[in-house]
Formats: sequence, C-alpha cells, structure tokens
Amino acid sequence: MTTFDQLHLDERILESLNAEGYQTPTPVQAETIPALMAGRDVLGIAQTGTGKTAAFALPILHHLAERKPPSGRPIRALMLTPTRELAAQIGERVRVYGRHLPLYSTVIFGGVGQSPQVKALRRGVDVLVATPGRLLDLHNQGHVDLSNVQHFVLDEADRMLDMGFSKDVERILSLVPRKRQNLMFSATMPKAIGALANQMLHRPVHVDISPEAPTTDRIEQYVAFVQKADKRQLLIDLLEGQMVACGIVFTRTKHGANRLAKQLGKVGIPADSIHGDKSQSARTRALESFKNGDVFVLVATDIASRGIDVEDITHVFNFDLPNEPEVYIHRIGRTARAGRDGLAYSFCDETESGYLVGIQQLLGEDIEVLEDQPYHFEKARPKPGQKPGRVKGAPVGGRSRRGTGRGSGMRRYHRSGAGDRGQRSERRARGSKKPNQPSRGGQRSDRPNRGTSSQPPGSRSRRGKQQGRSNASNRQRRRRSQRRDDRP
Ligand code: AMP
Repeated sequence: MTTFDQLHLDERILESLNAEGYQTPTPVQAETIPALMAGRDVLGIAQTGTGKTAAFALPILHHLAERKPPSGRPIRALMLTPTRELAAQIGERVRVYGRHLPLYSTVIFGGVGQSPQVKALRRGVDVLVATPGRLLDLHNQGHVDLSNVQHFVLDEADRMLDMGFSKDVERILSLVPRKRQNLMFSATMPKAIGALANQMLHRPVHVDISPEAPTTDRIEQYVAFVQKADKRQLLIDLLEGQMVACGIVFTRTKHGANRLAKQLGKVGIPADSIHGDKSQSARTRALESFKNGDVFVLVATDIASRGIDVEDITHVFNFDLPNEPEVYIHRIGRTARAGRDGLAYSFCDETESGYLVGIQQLLGEDIEVLEDQPYHFEKARPKPGQKPGRVKGAPVGGRSRRGTGRGSGMRRYHRSGAGDRGQRSERRARGSKKPNQPSRGGQRSDRPNRGTSSQPPGSRSRRGKQQGRSNASNRQRRRRSQRRDDRP
C-alpha cells in the first residue's frame, strides 16, 4: 500500500497531513499524485468524498513551493469549480494543506460582494480557487490576470457543463497560457466531457475511481408509491416516525425546496432549504445550522447539494425522483458516509414510474417497496416491461442537456448486504433540539415504520386546506414565481 512518504511530497506538506490525521492516501490520491508530481495531465473520474481535493492540491502546492514566486506574485494555479460551496471547501483545504508553505491562496465566487476578493487579488495570490462567472466578471474588470497560470484544475467538469458554464470554460481556457499542467475531474463521463477533455488535456493519465459501489452497500433503500398530493404528508410521517435528526430531502425545483422547508417548519420539524437562488450567506447559514444540528432537515436541489459533505446524514429522501439514474446514486450517497450506514426513501408518483425503472436498471435490482403505508398508490408502480425514461405528463428535470446517462459511462451498482445498522447516529437523542421545539427525543426504530403513520388521513387534508388558502393575487404571484423557479 502506498504511503504519503512514498509520494515525494514536500516535508512541510507531510507535516500538515500528519496534523490532519491522514495516514494513507485514498485510491484517487495514490493514482493521481504520482502522475501530477511527474508533470503529467490527469483525467480523473471521481466525485466529492473520495479525497480528490488533496489529490490535485498536494502536488500543485508542492510544485509551487519548489520555485520562488515571480515578482508581483501572479496566479500560478487556477482551480475552477462550479459551485460556491465547492469553491469554499477547496479553498479551505488548500489553506490547510499549505499552511506551512510560503504561498498565498484565495477563493472567489459570486453572490457576495466583490471588494474583499479584489483586495486579496491585489495583494497577489499563488493559488486561485474560483467559480467561472465571478472569475470572468473580475477578469473583465481587469482584476484578474491569468497569463501566468502553470497548473489548471477543472473540478466537477460534468456539473460545470450541466450548469451551463461551457462557454465560460472555453473563454477561461483561452485566457490561460497554452503550456500548462491540466487536471480534469468529473463524476461521470458523458460525450461532452470527453470532447472537452480532448481539447484541454495533453496525453492525460486516466484515473477512474468509483466510490458508489461500496457506499450503496450500506444504504437501505425503499420506494413508496404515492400520489403527488400525498408526498408531503408521507414525508412528515417518516420524519416524525423515525426521529430523523439529520436528513436531506431532494426536490426537483428551487421553489419546491423553499415551500417544503417552510411546510416542515410549520409542523415543528426544523428545516431549511439550499438551492442556487439563495444568496451565498443564506446558503452558508443553512449548511451551518444543518451541520450543528439546529435544523434536522435540509431540503435541497441537486446542484446545490453537490459538495455537501456532512458525515452524520442518516436519511436521504427523494421527494421527487431524478430523471437520470446516476443522479439517484449521487443523492443517496449523501448518507452512509465515513463507514456509517444510512436509509434512502424515494417517493414515486404516477408520472415518475419510468424514472424508477431506469434507476432500478442501473442498480441491477428492484428497490424494496414500502407498501404498508397509508398513502400507497398502486397506479404509480411501473407496469411490467415498462421502459425507462419519461412517461407522459412527467416533469422534465433540468439535467436533460446531459442526456440520459445511459451511455458507455454508466456503471452498475450492486448492494451486497444489509451492513451494520447498529451504529447509526442518534443525533437527536444527543440533544441537538432547541428547548421550545416539540420533544423529538427517545428511541428511534432502525426499521421504517411501515403502516404506522402517526397522522390519520383526515387531519392531512385539513392541513392541506389551511396551507392552500390564498387570495387570487397571491395565487397569481405564486404561479408566476413557480414558472420562473421550476428549474432545478
Ligand atoms: P474530498 O473528496 O476532497 O472532498 O475529501 C473528502 C474528505 O476526506 C475531506 O473531509 C478530507 O479532509 C478527507 N480526506 C482526504 N484525504 C484523506 C486521507 N488521505 N485520509 C483521511 N481523510 C482524507
């Protein structure tokens, strides 16, 4: 097994790794670091949670520390990533790994004031971590000079293209010198990424890490067939019945995420939402409250959830099924982190049965059905022989530009066993609740509470009516904003 000592990294970097408690390189590090140390380009298939940040940051820091910075301290390493959360996480890791090196780094992203970022750039930075939009903004204003970049990292390349950044990436590539070291990481390898890799990378070393297979081994998965209108109450029942202390709920739209978080709050379940329309400070606040246990449930859209690395997540709920099977794997992989196990519940309404077929094909098996629940709706079950994909009337998700994900890049994910369910975190029992919140303590069952809904259907409709009451102009406004926000 490779050790960090064998990778010929600067002693000062090894010192930081030691302080972090890193003993051995993860697989992606063991394969990527030697290639980058040797000056090669790398094309990596790996996602957040595999240790990929250190895989590219350590050798780049090593190379930068080898040479004295040129006068004016120009940007010598550019790390481009699609979301603010990822940029912040990478920036924090770069600071940690390079804390004993005489190097400067900074992070720039949109949604916050630009002047602190401009000030940091003026002081001079060796490593710049950036999201594409803000980077180009600042470049257009003359605050960023990329003409000295020697190391270029394109992180989460598939997500970058999904988010519509391909033109920005092209433009940034035209601003960095032709002679440079390149690294591209992507969780999946659709055609567009292959084309970008061909354009950007020079005879790259290929690194393919697939972390999902062992992760899904420890995730107990269930699907509930339910009508759209009953999804919310089923979610509330499950959240309450299982004493969920750290759960993430995926919705298709930003508007849906906002609305659901508010509705959960109204029934006494502390929840917040995270999505692309929220300001940076609101997103950071939501993530912090979730991490420290002030809110039990985070309602998220797919894009915003990328990069959320919270080890304690015990439950994932697919309130809406994703229209791409691979996204399902990414979502449920939010639980069962750091050797723990987890539970994943998916709600499938009549319009989503085709998406379920695709997911089950990718998994290579059927997901266990939560039949004995009060909202069970048999018509939502896929028909025998049904083909994967969209059925008539199904909502179209925002990731359609990337295709179905059923190409050559698609892998099968098998679950081998139930795993150890005994270690599941009992965060709620650890007392993370606030005094004026309804008591949520006590013993939580490790099995789903099938058929033991705490809410009779009658009270459900009453609640629905109360929340649905609004005047005509409110309804109009809501419809307008719903149309605007019905994007992931
Ligand atoms: P990443 O995939 O880069 O977001 O890393 C996921 C998590 O793994 C982060 O919390 C890192 O601090 C941690 N990590 C990265 N490399 C190692 C390692 N070699 N040993 C232990 N933890 C690591």
